[in-house]
Amino acid sequence: MLTVSDLRVSYGPIEVIHGIDIEVGEGECVALIGANGAGKSSTLKAICGLVPASAGIITFEGRDITNQSGHAIVKAGITMCPEGRQVFPQMTTLQNLRMGAYTRTDADQASDVDEMMDMFPILRDRANQAAGTLSGGEQEMLAIGRALMARPKLCIFDEPSLGLAPKIVAEVGATIQRIKEMGKTILLVEQNSAMALRLADRAYLFEAGEIVLSGTGTELQSHPDVAKAYLGH
Ligand code: ATP
Repeated sequence: MLTVSDLRVSYGPIEVIHGIDIEVGEGECVALIGANGAGKSSTLKAICGLVPASAGIITFEGRDITNQSGHAIVKAGITMCPEGRQVFPQMTTLQNLRMGAYTRTDADQASDVDEMMDMFPILRDRANQAAGTLSGGEQEMLAIGRALMARPKLCIFDEPSLGLAPKIVAEVGATIQRIKEMGKTILLVEQNSAMALRLADRAYLFEAGEIVLSGTGTELQSHPDVAKAYLGH
């Protein structure tokens, strides 16, 4: 479904992604893991059209989407749930959810809002509350609901568990599992490697802008380098 071939990303004169290859098949959950600064977020941003690729090709459902606008990429069926949630703080929960559907022209948005509120009942309780007043965990649920409102084929999650209490992290993990069971294709970046590898069908390990290891979630969980450096055992 998504193919990233020989991708390079630079910030000014400094190249931070040095020619990587990633494949995400339809219905798969794929995780990118690795230390801070290894290049996971830059890769996601290049896929979503938020930073330019300096070389390489990104295709989605066979179409070249390299360096297209963020808007065109959302329209193609890819949405990102960004690091730090980035809900619109002054807008209500309901308005935030509706914003997620801004590229859609069909009429069923009201029923999708209902569906999101069934999935995350807390969002119904908070419907008319400014999103900035929600707790971190509630904002994460809102960010996920807002991303799903675009009816994406591929959902990208950038550090969904960052800064959340352990109980909420477990809830976020269960939510991603449910989204996977809905048949969505998922690309996930997580500092919490244990959670990412539990959820992922396959994963890629990043080090200093390169992919140094890839395999199934189970293979990477038991790989000695991953177990020692990222899982703490
Ligand atoms: P993190 O988990 O901290 O987000 P990451 O694996 O996602 O880490 P990136 O954020 O992609 O890594 O960073 C890769 C490299 O690019 C790092 O060396 C970082 O300092 C650099 N970098 C990221 N964003 C910028 C930017 N806007 N300008 C310049 N350098 C950047």
